[in-house]
Amino acid sequence: MKCCIECFKDREIRDRFKSFNEKGNCDFCGAHNKKVLDLDARNSQEINDQNLAIDFENLIEQFTNDSNTNFVNKRHMLSDYLEKHTSIFSDSVSSEKILQFLKYLLPQQYNENPDIFDQPVIPAYLLNKDKLEREGIFYGKTWKDFKHDIQHNNRFHSTMVNDKILADFFEDCSIFLKDKKRLYRARISDDGEPLKSQNMWSAPFGSASSGRLNASGIGYLYLSEDIMVCLQEIKASVNDICTVATFEIETDDLKVVDLGQISNISIFTTPSLSRYLMNYDVFQDIDSAMIETSQKNKSEIEFAPTEFMSDLIKSTGADGIMYKSTLDTSINDIVLFDGAESTNSKIHQLDSEIKTYRITKSSYEKDLL
Ligand SMILES: [Zn+2]
Repeated sequence: MKCCIECFKDREIRDRFKSFNEKGNCDFCGAHNKKVLDLDARNSQEINDQNLAIDFENLIEQFTNDSNTNFVNKRHMLSDYLEKHTSIFSDSVSSEKILQFLKYLLPQQYNENPDIFDQPVIPAYLLNKDKLEREGIFYGKTWKDFKHDIQHNNRFHSTMVNDKILADFFEDCSIFLKDKKRLYRARISDDGEPLKSQNMWSAPFGSASSGRLNASGIGYLYLSEDIMVCLQEIKASVNDICTVATFEIETDDLKVVDLGQISNISIFTTPSLSRYLMNYDVFQDIDSAMIETSQKNKSEIEFAPTEFMSDLIKSTGADGIMYKSTLDTSINDIVLFDGAESTNSKIHQLDSEIKTYRITKSSYEKDLL
């Protein structure tokens, strides 16, 4: 049986496959002519060199068949759990295939303890309340609990967030944008006249309205990799006069937290497997909340949870946040915390590239409710 690079979403595992020599067809996800690993070659140098079996053995040790009745709703088959509550395997690999993969990779463990593979399990951290409270992003509570607390109980001093653990996860998602990378910002002109370049930076101090990532009064610079996406995002309609400014990064040192990486954090490179497992569902909730399309007329209270996350990222020293545009997921949007021309020396505007357009056509698509 051969598994291949395409079986895995986990970036650490994918990196290991890149160094493999053999190419072939995969018995698990069905891909053709990919880098493969032959699981039948039990003593294969590659399996040993790449620690694949050791990593999955350690992973399986995080689960137990303990029948504690407090966790009846949390009991799953191991392969179902790994499919739904980790980002290790690609979507094209079913739970049945995951089970088959584990049995092939770890024949000795299967012989010694078949129940872990074939009977419902729970993650062992559930039995360790102290650990959960120490290492859980919300000390064992959920995003929903946090959202309720910050919206209705304690806006500015929420005690529900384990800042250190969350900052570590954001650090894992950090990247540096490339020198000379160009980004765009569009604005609709109120009076039909082209906007001047100095008005294309963030809203002046005190005049910014609240958004998903910034509280009112705090102006951040919202940029996009693509001009058309920019125009769509400001909801420009036919006959609107819009000015588009071009910005260029002038350093290799502009650091952003790439929210697209939240779901792709490798379990095998996190500080501990259990910490990843206990926080996985929280990452997913943070990820979806941060990229959610903003609805019209959203009240400020709705933005409080994501503004809190944005502030926490800012406090770690990052320059901004990168996330996929909801209008075109192949395009990244970037928000920079320092959006003022006078203070942000990591980016400049190309005055010669500022352009003003009249919108001549816009298109809509609809879903029946
Ligand atoms: Zn495959």
